[in-house]
Amino acid sequence: MNRVVVHDKTFKVFITKDEIRSRVKEMAWEITKKYKDLNPVFVPILNGSFVFAADLVRACNFDSELSFVKIESYKGLSSTGKVDIKFGLDGKIGGRHLIIIEDIVDSGITLMNFIKEVEKLNPASITIASMLLKPEAVQHQIPIDYLGFRIPNAFVIGYGLDYDGLGRTLEDIYQLDEEEK
Ligand code: 5GP
Repeated sequence: MNRVVVHDKTFKVFITKDEIRSRVKEMAWEITKKYKDLNPVFVPILNGSFVFAADLVRACNFDSELSFVKIESYKGLSSTGKVDIKFGLDGKIGGRHLIIIEDIVDSGITLMNFIKEVEKLNPASITIASMLLKPEAVQHQIPIDYLGFRIPNAFVIGYGLDYDGLGRTLEDIYQLDEEEK
C-alpha cells in the first residue's frame, strides 16, 4: 500500500514498518543499557505515542512502570500554538527516573511546556524518547536523548499519528504527498 487517502488528502509511504521495527529495537537496547536497574517510569504522551510506546516498552526487558498523560496541541495540519495538558501522572513521580515517550517533536512547544510542569514534581531525572523529529520546524531546542528518525518538515500520519482522527492504525509512517500540498 504505497499511497493512502485520508479525508481529503493523499499520503505516501515514508518510513516502512520494518525500518520502524529495527530502529525501535536499537532505541530499546540503548535505554536498557542505562535504565535496567533503575525501575524508571515511562510517560507516554497520548494520543499519538500509544503505538510507539507499546512497542518501545515491550522491547525494554527490565522492571519499569507506566504513567500515561494526555496533551492536546494540534488541530488539523498545523499547530494551534496552544498546549492543553491533561495530567494522568499519579503521585509516584517524585524521585523517580522518567522517560517521556513522544511521537513527534515539531516546534517543540508541546514538550517544552510539558517538561516545565513535570520538573515541578521533582523527578530524579527526565529523559526524552521521540520517534520523530522535524529539525526544520523546531523553535525550542529540546534535548532528545533517544530519537527514532529526523524527517523533513512535512505532515506525517500512521504508527499512532492521525490526520483529524484517522490514520493512527496504519503500520507504516506516511507523508503528505508533495503534489497534494
Ligand atoms: P509541537 O508542539 O512540537 O509543535 O507538536 C507536537 C505534537 O504535534 C505531536 O505530539 C503531534 O501530536 C503533533 N504533530 C506535529 N507534527 C505532526 C505531524 O506531522 N503529523 C501529525 N499527525 N501530528 C503532528
